[in-house]
Amino acid sequence: MQIRSDIAEMLRAGHSDREIARALHTDGKAVAVARAALELPRHRPGKKAASSPQDLWRQRTRPIDGGHLEWTGYRTNDGTPFFRWLKRGYTAGRMAFVMQHGRAPVGRVQPGCGYPGCVAPAHVEDQPMRDRLKKQMAGIFGGAA
Ligand SMILES: [Zn+2]
Repeated sequence: MQIRSDIAEMLRAGHSDREIARALHTDGKAVAVARAALELPRHRPGKKAASSPQDLWRQRTRPIDGGHLEWTGYRTNDGTPFFRWLKRGYTAGRMAFVMQHGRAPVGRVQPGCGYPGCVAPAHVEDQPMRDRLKKQMAGIFGGAA
């Protein structure tokens, strides 16, 4: 299906169907069809649409004392900070890890700072990082760690 590029552009910028229809002199239905074809989430009034999963992640975190970041969004049943962007699910910790390290984490991502549930990119660790730290501690303290 052919999607008008001006409609697509305004959709990606986070405008509502009605705003786009008015601005481009088309009808809301055509905009809604284009939105569905592009798999863009429905516009929520008062909230600017996130342009990337990183963007959405940022909107749902809140800095707290000590450089930690608290997750203000949804959590799964086991308490894992979680969000969806364009129908894909992400855990906040893994997203933070990728933002910091530029690679996918191995094993569980957990905060290494001691602040429960912290998702600060500089504070999250994956399994290999924890293993390395444990080995270093063992080297310093003679395996007592
Ligand atoms: Zn932290």
